[in-house]
Amino acid sequence: MLSQLPASRPLRILLCQGESPRARELVEYLEQDGYEVECVRGGNGTCLAAALRFQPHVLVVEENSIRLSIVKLCRTLQRSEETQHLPVVACVGDVSPDRVERFEQAGVTEILAAPTTPSLIVHCMKRLEQGGALREPGSKAGGISLWASERAAFEACLRQAEEREELSVCYQPRVDAATGDLLGMECLVRWNHPQFGCVPPDQFIPLAEETGLINSIGEWVLREACTQAEAWRQRGHTDLRVSVNLSAIQFRDSDLYETVQRALRDTGLPAEWLELEVTESILMGDPSETALTLERLKSLGLHVSIDDFGTGYSSLSYLKRFPIDTLKIDRSFVDGITSDPDDAAIATAIVLMGHSLRLRVVGEGVETTDQQTLLHLLGCDEIQGYLISPPIPAPAFEQHFLNRGQKVA
Ligand code: C2E
Ligand code: MG
Ligand code: MG
Repeated sequence: MLSQLPASRPLRILLCQGESPRARELVEYLEQDGYEVECVRGGNGTCLAAALRFQPHVLVVEENSIRLSIVKLCRTLQRSEETQHLPVVACVGDVSPDRVERFEQAGVTEILAAPTTPSLIVHCMKRLEQGGALREPGSKAGGISLWASERAAFEACLRQAEEREELSVCYQPRVDAATGDLLGMECLVRWNHPQFGCVPPDQFIPLAEETGLINSIGEWVLREACTQAEAWRQRGHTDLRVSVNLSAIQFRDSDLYETVQRALRDTGLPAEWLELEVTESILMGDPSETALTLERLKSLGLHVSIDDFGTGYSSLSYLKRFPIDTLKIDRSFVDGITSDPDDAAIATAIVLMGHSLRLRVVGEGVETTDQQTLLHLLGCDEIQGYLISPPIPAPAFEQHFLNRGQKVA
């Protein structure tokens, strides 16, 4: 019989961490997250002995941290009845396909691309738990899908995407709801992988956030957007604002202010033509700290908008604490605005609320003229969506929107 984990037990993690200076930090982090952790150094005999004594739910092993290979460690564990089904998470530097295959054949449950961070290990624990791989020690583990190792390969690819120039950006126009005049464009990142093809940001941004890669990707996108907007300004398009999405991780990064300041200085784009889009969930943290971060950014002279508005829980009183300029109505409400009275009521409330706070309101994801007309009637200031154009690369944007006057809708 497989024994499921009882609900309230601390999960035990055995870390084969070697002499890594990060070991203490990792243990502290995991313990704070409610795990029971033991750290072991030595060869695979030491690991086996610790596993038998500590009875962990999972063993996390870093390559180069033990004297024998991960493959041999797996074989050693499999020889003992008590440890043969212990899930092994391997943190490895080289995740080339043949190595991944060898680890899989050896029985490794998950492969993480080194260097891993504490939060990556916590995410991995949650995945294993959800996948049913963590059973009471001594019992047979449930199977875990192959995607775990595919994910490691994917993650390694993402690490190289920047240097291999596989990342690019597209621009989607934002237009005046009343006149159709072009007001600006949102910059959206794209990843074109030679094998995976075009990977949508919804798929790789969360991974970039988990791995910390979002900071460098985000900075790259910001600089691309500022460079492009300034180039268009130099060609006479002096009143177009470019908006860039900020992830929660970037927002909490202590270097964010300097990063934005540097991007503006290096590219020459006047700050008022840059808008940073943050989501409601970003604002949900410590309100005074959030307000401080936003005020510092705003002191540069840029604009701030709240993206996907309506999906979180921001109240009027909450919003007025923050120095923001624009609300972007989430496209799920725009989608149903002409057919679902609830969506229409929510959109109306957002417009009224935004205007009472002297904010501009943008309708996102506008696909039909009926939606456009209704948003305009409700008093929405700007619209953005496939009706005007999907996000397109800069040359196409130039050709469609900049070379033929700026009235586009
Ligand atoms: P978002 O910021 O809300 O961007 C709008 C998304 O809606 C874009 O998806 C866009 O292609 C899509 N969209 C626009 N108009 C329509 C429409 O009429 N109909 C439909 N069905 N969709 C429409 P995309 O480019 O796939 O981006 C998805 C999300 O990924 C973005 O949502 C944003 O949250 C995130 N993202 C994109 N680029 C970046 C980036 O550089 N940094 C960060 N942190 N996040 C980004
Ligand atoms: Mg956005
Ligand atoms: Mg949005």
